[in-house]
Amino acid sequence: DAAADVLRGHVRDIQDWPQPGVVFKDITPLLSSPAAFGVVIGAFADVARERGATTIAGIEARGFLLAAPVADRVGARLVPIRKKGKLPGPTRGATYDLEYGTATIEIHADAVGPGERVLLIDDVLATGGTAAAAHGLLADAGADVVGLAVLMELSFLAGRERLGAVDIVTLLTI
Ligand code: 5GP
Repeated sequence: DAAADVLRGHVRDIQDWPQPGVVFKDITPLLSSPAAFGVVIGAFADVARERGATTIAGIEARGFLLAAPVADRVGARLVPIRKKGKLPGPTRGATYDLEYGTATIEIHADAVGPGERVLLIDDVLATGGTAAAAHGLLADAGADVVGLAVLMELSFLAGRERLGAVDIVTLLTI
């Protein structure tokens, strides 16, 4: 469909980044094309409206670039989920495993509440660790997570399996 075609044309592969053996999907060409960016933001906004999202949660850092225009377009609240130590107020955190070591993400403790309908947004679903941790933070706050929307799902990394019952929308599956 249109969004998938736009992504195929505006995402480039960077070999061996951030480490040897990894092929990184770089979305900066998408950001630098107003027409292409508008198509994907429009597609995410449609998902947010269809699911009655009242709140858009974006995951640092590339998730912010997508979540903010979607929230503005649909008139939803915007909530950042950040790397440890970045949010100024009282936070709750979730730690998850990386290939080597662990990572922690945080949300402001008062950012979302029970019954709130939250659409979680990030650029890429890889192993699913980041999205699963973010989902846990929102669910623990009592929010109703209406879905996870990503530009691309790297299906060979099986992130979907780590996300259980979360309803995932991906614009392009690789
Ligand atoms: P995961 O936790 O699913 O393994 O990794 C997903 C997180 O890492 C996302 O926040 C995403 O931004 C980042 N990420 C992993 N691989 C890529 C990639 O190839 N391209 C981009 N743009 N982000 C990636």
